[in-house]
Amino acid sequence: MNSFSEYPFDERIRKAIEELGFTKPTPIQSQTIEPIAEGRDVIGIAQTGTGKTAAFVLPTLQRYLQRDPAEEYKGPRVLILSPTRELAAQVDDSIKQLAKHADFRVALLLGGVPYGKQLQALGNDPEVIVATPGRLIDHVQQKNTHLRAVDVFILDEADRMLDMGFMPAIHQLIGFLGKGERQTLMFSATFPDPIARLASRLLKDPVRVDVSPPVRTPEKIKQGAFYIEKVRKPRLLRELLALPNMTSVMVFCGMKVEADFIHEVISGDGFEVGVLHSDRGQKERTRALDEFRNGSCAVLIATDIAARGLDIKDVSHVINYDLPNNFEDYVHRVGRTARAEAEGEALSFVTPGDLLTFNKIEADLGRPIERYDFEGVTMPWEAGIPSAAGAGRRGRR
Ligand code: AMP
Repeated sequence: MNSFSEYPFDERIRKAIEELGFTKPTPIQSQTIEPIAEGRDVIGIAQTGTGKTAAFVLPTLQRYLQRDPAEEYKGPRVLILSPTRELAAQVDDSIKQLAKHADFRVALLLGGVPYGKQLQALGNDPEVIVATPGRLIDHVQQKNTHLRAVDVFILDEADRMLDMGFMPAIHQLIGFLGKGERQTLMFSATFPDPIARLASRLLKDPVRVDVSPPVRTPEKIKQGAFYIEKVRKPRLLRELLALPNMTSVMVFCGMKVEADFIHEVISGDGFEVGVLHSDRGQKERTRALDEFRNGSCAVLIATDIAARGLDIKDVSHVINYDLPNNFEDYVHRVGRTARAEAEGEALSFVTPGDLLTFNKIEADLGRPIERYDFEGVTMPWEAGIPSAAGAGRRGRR
């Protein structure tokens, strides 16, 4: 489907699309709207910003509007789970916009806010529930609603659900669904093993659509690592950033406070440096990103959440100041460099406490990561062997 007019949308939907000024479907929309409207299960590998919300809302709304309006209300029929309040609120907004000419009642159920309005929304016989997992479990357990009539189940940002520890909650919610026929849609920016397993359990003969940006395979990116005491990391970072080939460097930290700390340290050295994490205001984040993109800032310090999905050209180096916890995040970070045909290198700081994770990442990568030393700053890799006991491999240099 290359244009919205190619598809026989209900007039009420067509009007909303027009009013929103959507001229043509985004890639994820052009590949998923038809199968979803036909009732197929779909796996969509897509990030926020690709138009994925409309990709599942439009055909779901279309199917709903084709139902017999005289059908008796048995409970909410569409369940959309989102990992965070912000994302759930965005989905709710999208539905309100796309369904503004139709009667498609939504209950938005978020944690951390009072129950009053949510109870009111549930009392209004909603067709759709958009929820974060914990609060929805509360409502079901308190019998404020039930999920037995759900025949469209949508898991949004499944990989973030996993990151945030929601898998047990999702399994619990699946147990609340009815036993009848159901359509299941799963959207995720990445597709790690636990998500793949959940998908194979939950989805029947799914159509798989992948619109993830072309990340260069890690095989083509030079990758190295330093073995270092935690306290010496700032020193190593300074030494590396002073090298002439470090023209455009993304530095990844595990925590926001750490990102702020390094930002302060490195700025004090006279480097032009920006910082990107979720506690910084939107304006500040946009400015940091713009300055890094246009080259006025050579260094950008970021956390994973803030950096997900960014497409920045010409990143010469990625530095894992803190090693990511898993292979998915490693690949994602490393893929920020050497985009298109550019050269790039990824360097990881590995502390004694990181050795097991590092070995696991290297095993998943399926080839060795170069062991580097920085004289006077790093430790010899051999020093790590005793604490890596059980990992069953030898350090190389
Ligand atoms: P999402 O990836 O769902 O978070 O959507 C990102 C943004 O793209 C939202 O602000 C949507 O309103 C917008 N959007 C979705 N589909 C289209 C489209 N076909 N044309 C233009 N904008 C769109």
